Amino acid sequence: MDLSNAPGSLSNEANRLAALMGLGILDTPAERDFDEITRLAATALGAESAAVSLIDKERQWFKSRFGVPFTETTRDIAFCTHAVASRDVLIVPDATLDDRFSANPLVTREGGIRFYAGVPLIISSGYCIGTLCVFDPVSRPGLTDTQRSVLIDLARLATDFIESHRLRRMGEIAARVVDATSDSVVAADQNGRIVFWNPAAERMFGRAFDEAIGRKIEMIIPDHLADDAREIFASAGAEVTPEAGFLELVGVRADGSEFPLELSVAPWGIGPPDNGFAAIIRDISTRKALDRERESDKSFLDTVVRNLPAMLFVKDAETRKYLMVNRTGERAIGKPAEEIVGRTDRELFPHYGASYERRDGEAIAASSPLTFESKFIREDGRPIHFRTTRALIDGPDRPRQYILGISEDVTATRLAEAQVLRLAHYDMLTGALNRASFNDRLHRLVQEGEAFALLSIDLDRFKAVNDQLGHPAGDSVLTQVSDRLQAAITESGWVARVGGDEFVVVLKCSRLRERAADAASAIVASIAQPFATEKGVAHAGASIGIVLMPEDGSTTTQLRENADLALYRAKQMGRGNACFFNAEMDAAAQDRRKLEGDLRGAIAAGNIELFYQPVLSARTGQITSAEALARWTHTERGPVRPDIFIPLAEECGLIDDLGQQLLRKACRDAQTWPHHVRVAVNLSPLQFLTGKLVDNVRDAITTSKIRADRLQLEVTEGLVIRDVERTFEQLEQLRALGIQVLIDDFGVGYSSLSYFQRFPFDKVKLDKSFVDEIVTSRAAKAIIQAVVGLGEALNMGIVAEGVETEEQMRLLVATGCTHLQGYLFSRPVSADALREMLISNPPNGLNTSAAA
Ligand code: C2E
Ligand code: CA
Ligand code: CA
Repeated sequence: MDLSNAPGSLSNEANRLAALMGLGILDTPAERDFDEITRLAATALGAESAAVSLIDKERQWFKSRFGVPFTETTRDIAFCTHAVASRDVLIVPDATLDDRFSANPLVTREGGIRFYAGVPLIISSGYCIGTLCVFDPVSRPGLTDTQRSVLIDLARLATDFIESHRLRRMGEIAARVVDATSDSVVAADQNGRIVFWNPAAERMFGRAFDEAIGRKIEMIIPDHLADDAREIFASAGAEVTPEAGFLELVGVRADGSEFPLELSVAPWGIGPPDNGFAAIIRDISTRKALDRERESDKSFLDTVVRNLPAMLFVKDAETRKYLMVNRTGERAIGKPAEEIVGRTDRELFPHYGASYERRDGEAIAASSPLTFESKFIREDGRPIHFRTTRALIDGPDRPRQYILGISEDVTATRLAEAQVLRLAHYDMLTGALNRASFNDRLHRLVQEGEAFALLSIDLDRFKAVNDQLGHPAGDSVLTQVSDRLQAAITESGWVARVGGDEFVVVLKCSRLRERAADAASAIVASIAQPFATEKGVAHAGASIGIVLMPEDGSTTTQLRENADLALYRAKQMGRGNACFFNAEMDAAAQDRRKLEGDLRGAIAAGNIELFYQPVLSARTGQITSAEALARWTHTERGPVRPDIFIPLAEECGLIDDLGQQLLRKACRDAQTWPHHVRVAVNLSPLQFLTGKLVDNVRDAITTSKIRADRLQLEVTEGLVIRDVERTFEQLEQLRALGIQVLIDDFGVGYSSLSYFQRFPFDKVKLDKSFVDEIVTSRAAKAIIQAVVGLGEALNMGIVAEGVETEEQMRLLVATGCTHLQGYLFSRPVSADALREMLISNPPNGLNTSAAA
């Protein structure tokens, strides 16, 4: 059965059912109006039954029934279904004769329907929802015209009732909504006077219903804005503008406070121009505030992003095009955002773009943010180090749509690190490699086993430069030395500063020995050139020791030691020499090391002895003192000369122990001598350095109980060189103890007559070389005379040492020397032998022929 009972858009049964449902009438209780119609219809047509029948999906349901015992039937047996389908009046004179109904249970049952007349109920929307029908158990020929028109009129009345039922219901709903809504619902008549004012309007505008009704609608708008509003209100009733939507206006409350509102108007009434309008008004202050907040949040965020001190960029993860870059980014890249956005790294940076995009790719593949560091050359050529973290973020179109990048400029950090690295590896003053990195490199070279030459360079006279011109000048010389070294070697080598004035050059090339020799002589020649400094011209020189790897050693220690040996030898050869290491040096060094160990043992065992050599008065020939001279008899080698073991003891830090030991021993021995004989002890300049000398001397005197003035100390001129003030200070302290101080080997060292001004020595010992030459050299004789004159003037005795011949003795005595010492009188002898000698010393002295 085709139920599509309306043309066009109404043709749909589903829509018809929806319209029926929308009426809200199905299954509602009986109503008098409807019952009146069915009663009238039945009566007017003289029929037994009548009904207002509504056809829904499955049944016909009777809104009103007259003479019908049941409230509904199934749809398929309903006569009305046919009227609804045809949308026309349906008359069935005798159902038993009609094929459509003859088997219908409503017909076949006891007292069933024979006659039926139904008029379709068509509502204003055009849908047919049911019928007004009458039926009778008796067949009839049809309806008279009058009956037909009565039935149609009643059907129309039923339709009206159904529709007004709907409107009433809508009205009820609307009233409830209007009461309950938080929106103001306001209506005005054609003159703009308020005729409706809901509770929300009372609250919103702070005006009670009574107060609002009858007032002009402009009341809700502040006076200063009323003109604009008047126009809106004036046209509001004119036409229906479904597109108009909401207007934003400013409202005013009874207390004068203003608030933003949203207003939508719809006309109502009979029709233009007599229409009024209804308005729904919403207070949008909260929404506005939220909007404002959101707006300010956004602009805050924008400001943060723009001013972020790190570069921030966003790229599309697919196209890799930049979507945004902040101001720091613009500055870092050196291009304005307009030139960056919309382009890829490849387009922007032809040289590194690909590598940036590769990083993007890695970031896309990774599950968490990735950080990379990269170097970037700006448009202006300045290199920048970036540390960039990339994270994938979701976008509106798809997850992980964007690459978010934050790049920090770590250039300053990297430069600082480089600086630290340089400080760690290079000597700050000269820029050459420092000692630590030299050791590192040397270690690596040795491990690699490659051939190289190592030149150990020591500056000559550098201390003098420092002393004479000051440290800044010294620094300048060192810097220039470093530069000259760099210049003297080819690119196949490098320079390191490994000590105050010690440098090292490493060469890596072919024909090493030859090249090393060339380099060494170039260096010697170059360093021999004067150095210009702010304080004047300085002169230095270089001594060089050379070792070759692998010939001269297989470990760094061995190589360095052998280089030192070669350097030592070079220095022995005189300044400005270079010397290759050789095996003999090694043997000598080993020998020395062995001797050093033995000396250490001998000192510890107290095996260094003292011999004594007498000193005579030139006037009386009497022994006035004896000089203590150290003697060491090595168990294997026999006697070792003090010229050998004293410097050795000095070099290996044993001189203090030894000096103290000998000092005590000398004092002890002297204690057994006649009391007018003094004892002279030689001191090493190094003994002045520890600061313990004065205490040691005092200790030796007190433990041996000799008179302080019986002790003489022999010091050489060299000692004054190091620390002038402290040396003189100690000499004065010694003098204060009552001790005599002699200056030894006078005339060969760095003598300065000013020393005599600073400190009055008790005696001067003329160096043996003058004594040797007094017979043959007039110059020597003149010098001796001058020293004697000085001694007389300053009240110092003059001792001539190393007197071997009578002729020397005679000349020395004649010249005015006050004391004599030498093989002519006595060799150094053992303590016992000396005691013998002193006891048997004839009053006219030893071999006194000249002294008489
Ligand atoms: P020095 O202090 O100038 O000692 C004099 C040296 O000349 C001694 O040599 C002595 O034996 C030697 N001599 C004395 N008369 C003659 C002579 O007529 N002809 C020749 N050819 N030589 C003579 P020695 O004992 O070998 O000492 C050498 C140097 O060793 C000393 O020179 C001194 O500088 C140092 N020395 C010796 N003993 C000690 C010591 O106990 N302490 C320190 N610090 N140095 C010492
Ligand atoms: Ca001496
Ligand atoms: Ca001497």
